[in-house]
Amino acid sequence: MQVSVDRDRCCSSGMCVTNAPDIFDQDDRDSLVRLRQTSFQPEQFAALRLAADLCPGGAISVTEDDRQS
Ligand code: SF4
Repeated sequence: MQVSVDRDRCCSSGMCVTNAPDIFDQDDRDSLVRLRQTSFQPEQFAALRLAADLCPGGAISVTEDDRQS
């Protein structure tokens, strides 16, 4: 699974950090999203999909990889 965040679309809601604090963080200076990790384990996939679905800015992109999902 590939995950990317678009800081230009992030509105600093913090929803992703609330739902998946091990994966997402907010920058101390501007509160925009940052990824804590660049590779993910299968047990994290559901949280990643949920974070993408719930992001109010549409800033989280999840690309499925057939070999891992
Ligand atoms: S949920 Fe979306 S808009 Fe909110 S902080 Fe995370 S990436 Fe930004």
